[in-house]
Amino acid sequence: MKTVFSYIKPYKFPIIVALVLMLIELSVELLQPLFIAKIIDDGILNEDANVIWTWGAAMMGMAILAFLSGATNSFFASHASQSFAYDLRNALFTQVQKFSMETFSRFPAAGLITRLTSDVTMVQNVLFMSLRIMLRAPLLVVGSIVMAFVVDPYMAMFLVIGAPFLAIFLYFMVKKGVSYFSLVQVRLDRVNRVIQENLQAVRLIKAYLRGAYEASRFEQVASVLRNDTTKALRIMEWILPVLLFVMNMSLLAVIAFGAEEIRTSNAEIGDLVAIVNYAMRMTGAFSMFAFIIMAYSRAKASAERMEEVLLVNEGLEREVTTGKFEPIKYGEITFENVSFRYGNKGQPVLREISFHVKSGQKLAIMGATGSGKTTLLNLIPRFYEATSGSVKVDGQDVKEWSLESLRQAIGLVPQVSLLFTGSIHENLGWGKEEATKEEVQAAAIQAQIHQSVEGFAQGYDTLVGQKGVNLSGGQKQRLSIARALVRKPEILLLDDSTSALDVKTEASLWEALEKEKATMLVVTQKIRTAKGADAILLLHHGKVVGYGSHVELLEQSQLYREIVASQEGGQENA
Ligand code: ADP
Repeated sequence: MKTVFSYIKPYKFPIIVALVLMLIELSVELLQPLFIAKIIDDGILNEDANVIWTWGAAMMGMAILAFLSGATNSFFASHASQSFAYDLRNALFTQVQKFSMETFSRFPAAGLITRLTSDVTMVQNVLFMSLRIMLRAPLLVVGSIVMAFVVDPYMAMFLVIGAPFLAIFLYFMVKKGVSYFSLVQVRLDRVNRVIQENLQAVRLIKAYLRGAYEASRFEQVASVLRNDTTKALRIMEWILPVLLFVMNMSLLAVIAFGAEEIRTSNAEIGDLVAIVNYAMRMTGAFSMFAFIIMAYSRAKASAERMEEVLLVNEGLEREVTTGKFEPIKYGEITFENVSFRYGNKGQPVLREISFHVKSGQKLAIMGATGSGKTTLLNLIPRFYEATSGSVKVDGQDVKEWSLESLRQAIGLVPQVSLLFTGSIHENLGWGKEEATKEEVQAAAIQAQIHQSVEGFAQGYDTLVGQKGVNLSGGQKQRLSIARALVRKPEILLLDDSTSALDVKTEASLWEALEKEKATMLVVTQKIRTAKGADAILLLHHGKVVGYGSHVELLEQSQLYREIVASQEGGQENA
């Protein structure tokens, strides 16, 4: 709670103003019964019209004051709560940007989305409601008790007889509430996850006619959410009847003993009316308690979930202490006995890998699915760190380069092409601040996508992403390559990024890339592509089982010969 709470601090001023205004409203409410007692005892019973008019006018004035305070309070309360939520959301988002890849795997996307949306909204609403009305209810209860004691301590005593019982009861309710509502948010995560997966796989679901199955999967998680929310609300439903029962019993006691007091002339009618009035106000405030406890329980559960994110420390990307920006000049890559496994347990995914790629050379990486090709690429921008051995760029371990230097030098084209909602120009220039039109076009020409873009009605202003044109897999891959080229990287990592290109286009692409001075690591399944590289690295179960040129590998490696045979029917040997 403390960390989330600290985001309230900058808004101390509006919060204090809102609280003061709320106290004014509260004081008016607490003084009203006193005035009524005065009007009854000194005005009505004494038949003094003057007293009635004077105190009546005072009551009216105070009502106007309370109204103005209430309206102004709303203004400050919403300013404070909205700004607090804005800061909190930004802080969460910034923190998530710093997550290491391993931390990302601990926090599924849907869980992060719920935290940044529903959880933030939950605490924002509670802050607003607290400043506006929620804090008023407990204060009204305390204030009513104090005022009742001021009016008549004996009668007031009967109002607080049930208090210890209520305190214990409410304490347990809050405890239960927090644990139940934490579960509700976890259920909401699950619903979000199913929605997210479903929307991403729309085409697949249609093709496999799995709409009904997906609907039932959704229904299942939605019904778990409904059931657990209902369970949480059921618990909360106990609060109001118990509170009202205790209060009504107290009220009966006040009236019974109060009537006796008036009969024996120890108290006046006005006093009894005032105390009954306070008791009614307390009951009114209590009827808000169920809602308040629910809101606080939910907010506490949400705050704890947000803190899980905000307090991640070990799982952030580690920056070298000297982290000053030094550009990487050559893009030379060396792997020295590199082994790697995901997490602390399990089998190594890469074993004792060593190779060297000189500046400007092209290394093709081949191997079956799951042999560790993507993992190997992942170690270069330091998405993950080698478990043992060393990955070097320009002779220096990647752990010693600042992340900025390292990643500035790398153009990464991932296996799955991702484009953002926006124009083609924006997408291509995305990786380089203030990329010019010429730079973007030059990269597009190199990536063999310029002509296609020119063919679109809006050219480079054509919108892509969710609201834009539908692009083919090959077009997306080429845009993705162009985006990397715009950065003029020293190192280009292509993770099977030409799989959807036809033979002719791919040949033109490689020809255009010949002019690039970048060192290239190209993961590929195609012998045709590998042949054009300076060297080929063949991986099998995370181990290097072949390294050399096409001709050398044909001689050395049975596995390589098999791949060649499977792709070209053995023609390559000729
Ligand atoms: P390739 O690119 O050759 O298909 P990968 O490098 O993607 O192979 O995967 C190599 C192995 O590592 C596979 O067994 C895969 O299941 C595992 N793996 C990949 N990514 C992760 C991850 N984030 N966490 C745990 N295991 C992973």
